[in-house]
Amino acid sequence: MNKLIIFIDMDGVLANFDKAHEKLEKSEGKKVYRPDLVLDFSTFEPMPGAIEAVKQLTEMGHDLFIATTPPWDHPESWAQKRAWVLKHVPQFNKRMFLTHRKDLLKGDILIDDSFSRGQPDFEGTWMHFGKDYDWDMVVNSVRTITNLPKNL
Ligand SMILES: [Mg+2]
Repeated sequence: MNKLIIFIDMDGVLANFDKAHEKLEKSEGKKVYRPDLVLDFSTFEPMPGAIEAVKQLTEMGHDLFIATTPPWDHPESWAQKRAWVLKHVPQFNKRMFLTHRKDLLKGDILIDDSFSRGQPDFEGTWMHFGKDYDWDMVVNSVRTITNLPKNL
């Protein structure tokens, strides 16, 4: 079996940042331009399909890590992200990279919805989540890449 190192972004990939942003604007009654400096990340809902997809990728035997960019001016959110991980995907215990330079990560696949933190220069395959990939496509593509039978 071909064991891959897979990095997974949080905002907009594992955790539903947009939904939390919408809720915030509704409660404030106005546009909020830097929701990442206000919101409590630990209260975000998971993205649809994310938890199940992570489970399937883990069951395939791959090496999964979180790679997330911590808002520099809101360090409280770094701890909130850790709390979110413990709550929703505790298997990522001590498997978390905080970085503004995703191009420097060493691995096979990066699942990320953004392109402004070095994602296009990642050494492996960047799966542009929300544009070219949803969670079903990620799981199917990884299955195909590693050529594993479907019932694994
Ligand atoms: Mg993101």
